[in-house]
Amino acid sequence: MRGNTSTSAPWRSRTMRRLRSLPRGATREDIDMMRRAIALAEQAAARGEVPVGAIIYRAGVVLGEASNDREATGDPTGHAEVAALRAASVAVGGWRLSGCSIAVTLEPCPMCAGALVNARIERLVYGARDPKAGAVDTLYDLCRDPRLNHRMEVIGGVDRIRCGRLLTRFFRARRQERRTRPS
Ligand SMILES: [Zn+2]
Repeated sequence: MRGNTSTSAPWRSRTMRRLRSLPRGATREDIDMMRRAIALAEQAAARGEVPVGAIIYRAGVVLGEASNDREATGDPTGHAEVAALRAASVAVGGWRLSGCSIAVTLEPCPMCAGALVNARIERLVYGARDPKAGAVDTLYDLCRDPRLNHRMEVIGGVDRIRCGRLLTRFFRARRQERRTRPS
């Protein structure tokens, strides 16, 4: 009996830790999708884009995925969420993305939060908070505003450490690059 307890203890503490770090309302699928979004963000960083990735999914099927491509396209709306919404709309054959969830590594800005409302997204799962533009929890609450014609479930803080670290590393490297660049 004692032996049994000692072998199950490490497993149990690992599971408890994982459950504790799982934000309320997040599912296993949300966690998996966030990992994919993080991989997209890493690819964006390698291309010199601000590392943000987004995945839109419904019933286990990925409908659209994208990363920030503002530098490559020169398009001010080139945020990961907008690009993922465009891809998902093509996949479903219409603008209405009812029943869909989006996993995005950074808290959406006002433009993207507005686009999610317009697309009738059902659930938003995001990673790190954005102190400068976050329009879901930090500066505004556009995704749950009762004055708008659509609201969604919001689950923030999923894998927030990894999502945030990607951004801080990217900006630190960029600052260093600017400092060392001959003027
Ligand atoms: Zn945005």
